[in-house]
Amino acid sequence: MSEGAAKKEEKPRKFQAIRGTRDLLPPETALWNRVEQTAHEVFATFGFGEIRLPIFEPTELFARAVGSETDIVSKEMYTFEDHDLHELNLRRSRSITDIELFTEPTSVGIILPYAKHFLTEAKQELTAGKLPRTPSNEFLLARIESDLDYLATLTDATPRDAFRDRCSELRRNMQALELGPVISLRPEATASVCRAYIEHNMQQLPQPVKLYYLGPMFRRERPQKGRYRQFYQIGAEVLGGSDAPAIDAEVIEMVMMFFDRLELQGVQLEINSIGCRDCRPKYVELLRAALLKVKDKLGPDSQRRIETNPLRVLDSKLESEQGIIARLPRIADHLCEDCATHYAAVKHQLEMRGVIYRENWRLVRGLDYYMRTTFEITAKGLGSQNAVCGGGRYDGLVELLGGPPTKGIGFAIGEDRLILSLQESGKAPAQQGRDVYIAWMGERAHATAIRAAKDLRKAGFSVELPPVEQKFGKALGQADKLGAKYALILGDNEVSEGLWTLKTLADGSQAKYTEPDLLAHLRKSL
Ligand code: AMP
Repeated sequence: MSEGAAKKEEKPRKFQAIRGTRDLLPPETALWNRVEQTAHEVFATFGFGEIRLPIFEPTELFARAVGSETDIVSKEMYTFEDHDLHELNLRRSRSITDIELFTEPTSVGIILPYAKHFLTEAKQELTAGKLPRTPSNEFLLARIESDLDYLATLTDATPRDAFRDRCSELRRNMQALELGPVISLRPEATASVCRAYIEHNMQQLPQPVKLYYLGPMFRRERPQKGRYRQFYQIGAEVLGGSDAPAIDAEVIEMVMMFFDRLELQGVQLEINSIGCRDCRPKYVELLRAALLKVKDKLGPDSQRRIETNPLRVLDSKLESEQGIIARLPRIADHLCEDCATHYAAVKHQLEMRGVIYRENWRLVRGLDYYMRTTFEITAKGLGSQNAVCGGGRYDGLVELLGGPPTKGIGFAIGEDRLILSLQESGKAPAQQGRDVYIAWMGERAHATAIRAAKDLRKAGFSVELPPVEQKFGKALGQADKLGAKYALILGDNEVSEGLWTLKTLADGSQAKYTEPDLLAHLRKSL
């Protein structure tokens, strides 16, 4: 290799944030903080307490709660096996590669020793408690053993197909062995809140329990404006107690008040009721039958959903399907009496609170756990990804996760989109400049400057203290660039007189103050 090529190779790799993730930088983070602070304040006035949840949970929790057929669980989760069985894992990979590579019965002698070694080690780890002793793992180990026993009896005359079938079964069994718990980065937080409610016996607290959370969620979606793979949600849940319609209305009122406080523009609330375990299945069948009649006029996605999840057809944004969807049966006409009464009362309760809503019978929401009330809020300036909040009632969820029968309702706000909308409508605060830039010259002035910076910061002002001496002209230029409101000028004269010069950068005026007067003056004017 030439010297030049070697140099080129040495150049360190430049790292970039992974697709779909991003850095949030100042001054934007000031807006994030304001949004989160407002959430803390508004939610507290409704009696909600903050819950901080783990970022990862067993995959099974999300599969059970969100639904294994949903896009989120079936294709968008970041999932991995959490284990430290690296040797065993390597041996497994090596064994599997052998099986894939050597497909003739004559090569059984190559495959067997390594696979046997893997089995012995796996059993040892099971005894040592490092390999999870689950029924599935115990079953798989027994199967692997019998696969290996069978392979050991083979002769060169064994038909190729029999050999290959058994080998692929062995490979599948090895692959299915769970070396550690399978966990996922959380794609949403409602499942975790319910898990925590059960784990901490919160049903023994005064009901309902009102909790809110904020933090990152992870979904492997196609990134675009307003859609990220790591995004942030602010959400709240009301668990336990009754399913009184006033609870649904108050939760919605709380989000609307939060948005109002932030002066979010173009806020539109849509609501719907998607029925309960009694009436929804009947409606779904009716919908499926109606969809089957118009099947050939629908696109491939909707055609597939007729079988898998007909409600999702109502979500379709496809222009050609809109006319057809408009003529489909509507759930509002097929709610059971209890659901219809509940829905009417939710609307009445919203009106009592002065919350303006629009009914949207097509609002079904993507997740399995919703029932009765569902709602979505959109805002201005977001293009096609304009939903800033989604929520609904999920009365069966806690029970589904092994807890007692529990009522539940909640929402999740997409914080990234909320921020985008605030920025688009000019509601973002301007960059916060420094209050005071200290322009000092000379060793004696440096000591005074350090003391002044400390006192000003103690008093709550933001202060920039240059670490090395600068000419006054350069210092003032720097103060300007940082958007400082004042420059405190400290030179030999100021120090010996005990009178400090304060320059107002907006108009260039300056005046002299003693230290206490200076503090009083700044307090008054900032
Ligand atoms: P969901 O949990 O899907 O009901 O989403 C609730 C809210 O989270 C949505 O209304 C969006 O505002 C936001 N959201 C969901 N997925 C994403 C994503 N990939 N990127 C940014 N925001 C998202």
